[in-house]
Amino acid sequence: MAAPPTPSLVLTFEDARRVVEDHASRLPPGAHETVDLLHSASRILAESIAADRDIPPFPRSTRDGYAVRSADLARLPARLTVVGEIKAGPAGKVPSTVNPGEAVSIMTGAPVPPGADAVVMVEYTSQQGDSVEITKSIAPGENIVAQGAEAKRGSLVLAPGTRLNEAAIALAASVGKSRLQVFIRPRVAVLTTGDEIVDVDAEVGPTQIRNSNSYSLAAQIQDAGAVPVLLPIAPDESGRLRQLIELGLQSDLLLMTGGVSMGRYDLVEQVLADMQAEFFFTGAKIQPGRPVVFGRVPCGAGAPSASSGQAPAREVLIPPPSHKYFFGLPGNPVSTMVTFELFARPLLEALAGLSPRPLTFLHSRLKSEIRIKTGLKRFLPAILSGQYENSQVELVSWQGSGDIAAQSRSNCLIVIPPDREHILAGEWVAVLPL
Ligand code: AMP
Ligand code: MG
Repeated sequence: MAAPPTPSLVLTFEDARRVVEDHASRLPPGAHETVDLLHSASRILAESIAADRDIPPFPRSTRDGYAVRSADLARLPARLTVVGEIKAGPAGKVPSTVNPGEAVSIMTGAPVPPGADAVVMVEYTSQQGDSVEITKSIAPGENIVAQGAEAKRGSLVLAPGTRLNEAAIALAASVGKSRLQVFIRPRVAVLTTGDEIVDVDAEVGPTQIRNSNSYSLAAQIQDAGAVPVLLPIAPDESGRLRQLIELGLQSDLLLMTGGVSMGRYDLVEQVLADMQAEFFFTGAKIQPGRPVVFGRVPCGAGAPSASSGQAPAREVLIPPPSHKYFFGLPGNPVSTMVTFELFARPLLEALAGLSPRPLTFLHSRLKSEIRIKTGLKRFLPAILSGQYENSQVELVSWQGSGDIAAQSRSNCLIVIPPDREHILAGEWVAVLPL
């Protein structure tokens, strides 16, 4: 029987996070598939996209008004001859050039004709017949976006690893991409452990606990761009636990919940140690979530690779990974949710192809004081409220890391450094939005 790792693998939050980010940054790229632009929301782009022409493709008026030569407005009011009207699109009476003393009526988004170097907004003009009187001078370039100012033809506009939000999708559409190469969503196995845990639909005995962790994790996994694979509940018994861990290692990542504390029936680490697991940490100095475990198992050690056991045909052949990563998340439901956000999410996002991004906190003023013991970095459920620039944040009352009801009333976590025992109302605190 291999020995489970020593307690020295309990890291500070920052060190533990750095370890995960380090592994995440070294993952090989995953396989691709093609999707329609309309079905690409939240997917991770797997190709480079270049501008197929200058953006904008012509000098674009940003206003309704008159395209003029700015030099003609040196003396005010200026009277210019209106020689045409340009709407957005091909229609309209478009002069080949704007000569001195001339102006062209122009609409927002339309191409500014040669000769004109600025657009006077319509409110500074009054047109009578063929001439327009202008009462305000203008600098060259005003109210015009120069051709190619937003992107030059051939330049990279979207890089692989970009999450396709509405702006990225709009940009892809604007350069004529109706289908996109995206990364295939990774599959993430969820294994919940504990003799007391029963599934949602089962008859629940007086001392039994319904499995909520598999469902909260499935929601978080989907939100992070992956596909959850729920395994049967594992009992606190090594043989069956090992079978289910091996099944879980057929996915791209294995998340376990429960069984990682110091209790006599917390067997997860021992079973993994017997499978030649490498442990990167077996605890973090945080609350909730102190017993969190991160490691990997060599693929030869009873862990067939994902590509051999997986149903969807991959368009690009990717060599099987040499290791499979796992997290052992503490079983207390709030600990499970918080440790997923802090540690599992960055690795999962990297598996999904997303470029790494640092964990950033918002800052808000504390509504009521906090007194707490020092020594652990805390991520405590809280409510961020207030309007516009006046946000404030307050802890929700909670019964500890088993209190799902408190967590569901919260919309963020207040982050408290390990050396603070008293934080006054009105102080700025770091906040992790949920
Ligand atoms: P453990 O980490 O196994 O010591 O579990 C800590 C606490 O979390 C215990 O009260 C468990 O009953 C509870 N727990 C463990 N797994 C789950 C689960 N899947 N759903 C809800 N509660 C759980
Ligand atoms: Mg347990």
